[in-house]
Amino acid sequence: MKKIIVTGGAGFLGSHLCEQLIQAGNQVVAIDNLLTGSQKNIVSLMTNKNFSFMQMDVCDEEMLKKIKGIEEIYHFASPADPNANSKFSYLAHPFETMLANTTGTWLLCQLAVKNNARLSFASTSEIYGDPEVSPQSETYRGNVSTTGPRSVYDESKRFGETIVTAFVKEKGLDGRITRIFNTYGPKMNPGEGRAVVNFINQAISGEPMTIYGDGKQTRSFCFVDDQIQGQIKAMESKNTKGEVFNIGNPAEISILEFASKIKELSQSTSEIVFSQELPIDDPKQRKPDISKAAKMLEWEPHESLESGLLATIDYFKSLSA
Ligand code: NAD
Ligand code: UDP
Repeated sequence: MKKIIVTGGAGFLGSHLCEQLIQAGNQVVAIDNLLTGSQKNIVSLMTNKNFSFMQMDVCDEEMLKKIKGIEEIYHFASPADPNANSKFSYLAHPFETMLANTTGTWLLCQLAVKNNARLSFASTSEIYGDPEVSPQSETYRGNVSTTGPRSVYDESKRFGETIVTAFVKEKGLDGRITRIFNTYGPKMNPGEGRAVVNFINQAISGEPMTIYGDGKQTRSFCFVDDQIQGQIKAMESKNTKGEVFNIGNPAEISILEFASKIKELSQSTSEIVFSQELPIDDPKQRKPDISKAAKMLEWEPHESLESGLLATIDYFKSLSA
């Protein structure tokens, strides 16, 4: 049994990670300030004697100093939704986003070094910006704007990666970085504006499904269970200190096809509409090269888009029932 911290533990990915780690017999401390997450996501864990929840900000240095005896830290705390219309997006919380990924990462690296603990930092495919090469491998340096609308997220994740790397090189941190590509599944925040959430909400309520731009932009969607397995392997596998891994599903699909698939799977009568221009700096393509994770972590995703989406649609239907 290991004692493990999951920051952002009441969020979408963090809560799934807590569940998997508890199931594997670990002791888990979830840290979250509930900015974009919800305690509802961890309600089933609250009575588990191996689970505890600390409502706090990852930038609270005094509180972090009180934590002792930990062996692993997964740093997942950060808003992740880019949608300008959502109150949960990083555009609605620019300063909180920058701080969680920079100061928060710095303090957690310090905590890991002090405890001789492993650390894994949840970075993002967004660090590749609007990529000029496809698929994106870990060696691609990206095409990112330092001042564009997405920069508070992209650039703070990039600097977060720099912080982890410096702690590995200079302070002996056993740290690694995972670049997460679009991941979906039950427990996504129903109030946020990511494509999966908007399209499913719209499809099950019969409202128009809103495509931004011409819908030809692509994404590659990974089901949450596959993502979490990749995360745990990145933390646990040998020789991962200082490494960076893309974790995502390489099956690429256009946003128009993706919306059509959700419409079909939810047997919706919604109309698909082209509601607004593509937002500034919205990546036109995104597809991970996962050959490094496949080789070093012996990991690859298994869930089909159809079965993953059906599980997610069922979850959203259960919320509105
Ligand atoms: P989420 O919003 O559901 O979860 C993030 C959690 O972090 C929330 O519970 C929020 O309350 C918490 N949080 C935010 N700032 C905090 C702070 N300062 N202190 C403590 N808690 C804080 O988002 P998610 O999709 O689960 O994303 C989790 C992580 O994975 C994020 O770091 C995100 O950047 C990264 N990521 C996710 C995706 C994806 O497709 N879901 C893709 C790329 C990267
Ligand atoms: N998108 C869309 N309609 C929506 C929400 C998003 O067409 O209602 C588009 C968005 O512009 C982007 C893609 O879908 O091109 C994926 O967006 P998401 O918000 O999921 O996150 P991103 O992958 O851009 O980080």
